[in-house]
Amino acid sequence: MYKIIGKKKLTSDIDRFEVEAPLVARKAAAGQFVVIRVCEEGERIPLTIADFDPDRGLISLVSMIAGKTTSKLSRLEPGDSLTDVVGPLGKPSEIENFGNVVCVGGGVGIAPVMPIARALKQAGNYVVSIIGARNSQGLILEKKMEEVSNRLFICTDDGSKGFGGFVSEFLDKFLKEESLSVDRVVAIGPAPMMAAVSEVTRPYGIKTIVSLNSIMVDGTGMCGACRVEVGDETKFVCVDGPEFDGHQVNFKLLFARQKMYCTEEQKAHKDYQHECGCKSHG
Ligand SMILES: Cc1cc2nc3c(=O)[nH]c(=O)nc-3n(C[C@H](O)[C@H](O)[C@H](O)COP(=O)(O)OP(=O)(O)OC[C@H]3O[C@@H](n4cnc5c(N)ncnc54)[C@H](O)[C@@H]3O)c2cc1C
Repeated sequence: MYKIIGKKKLTSDIDRFEVEAPLVARKAAAGQFVVIRVCEEGERIPLTIADFDPDRGLISLVSMIAGKTTSKLSRLEPGDSLTDVVGPLGKPSEIENFGNVVCVGGGVGIAPVMPIARALKQAGNYVVSIIGARNSQGLILEKKMEEVSNRLFICTDDGSKGFGGFVSEFLDKFLKEESLSVDRVVAIGPAPMMAAVSEVTRPYGIKTIVSLNSIMVDGTGMCGACRVEVGDETKFVCVDGPEFDGHQVNFKLLFARQKMYCTEEQKAHKDYQHECGCKSHG
C-alpha cells in the first residue's frame, strides 16, 4: 500500500497528492509516469510524476477528474492509501542545454511540464513558459512555474487573466513578435492543444516535443493499447514515449483512439456518481 501524506485542491476538479513511494521517488526523472490502482478491484490509470523527493521518499501526482477512477481518487484524503503505484515508467525527458526553450502547459498538463522546465533551466537553458487554462480559476502551479522559468506568460481562454486565447495562439504571437530565437518547444496538455502547438512551430522548423496521453492499460509494452503512429511507424506510448516529436505524430489517429471507449467510460462514471449519491443519501 502507498500512503497519501498530503493533498491540496488546486482547482475544483484538480488535486495534488503527495504519496509515499520511496523506490519510485529514488529512480524518477522528469517526464516519467506511474500506473496506479486506487483500490483492489479498480482499473489501472497512468499519471505523470509531477514531482519527486528521493530524500523523503515522496512523489507528487496531479489528477484531474475525468471519469470513475479519477473521481474515486479525488475522494481520498491524507492517511488513505493507493493499492498500487507502479513505476517510474516511460522514458525520461531529453534534458540538455539546447539554448532557448519554450515550455507550454495546458490545463492539468502544467503539472508534468513543471519538472521538465525546472530540469531544462538547471541544464543552462533560457526557459520561457506559457501556461493556460479555460479561466483564471483553472490555472494551476503558477508560482512554481514562475520559480522554474526565466519568463512566464499566462493565457486564459476567456481572458480572465493574462492573454485572452489559447496557449498556441500566444506562442504564434510570441514567435512572430519576439526576437528570441527558439531552439526547442515542449508542449503538454490536451491532445488538440499539442497538435495546435506542433502546427505553430512546424513552419519555423523548431523541434517540438509533446507528451501523449493515449489510452493505456498495462504500461509495460505488452498490451499495445497505447499504440500511436509517429513518422509512419507504430510506437507504444508507455515504453517508446510518452514524449515524441510533435511534427511526426499522427494526431488524427490519436484523437480517434482516445474516443474508443467513450460510451463505456461515460456509463461507468454516471453509475459511480449515482452509487455515491445513493450512499450519501442512505
Ligand atoms: C502517460 C500518461 C500520463 C498521464 N498523466 C496524467 C496526469 O498527470 N494527470 C491527469 O489528470 N491525467 C493524466 N493522464 C490521463 C489519465 O490517465 C486519465 O485521465 C485517466 O486514466 C482517466 O481515468 P478515469 O477512469 O477517471 O476516466 P475514464 O472514464 O476512464 O476516462 C475519461 C477520459 O480520460 C481519458 N482516458 C481514460 N483512460 C485513460 C488511460 N488509461 N490513459 C489515458 N487517458 C485515458 C479518455 O480520453 C477518456 O475519455 C495521463 C495519461 C497518460 C497516458
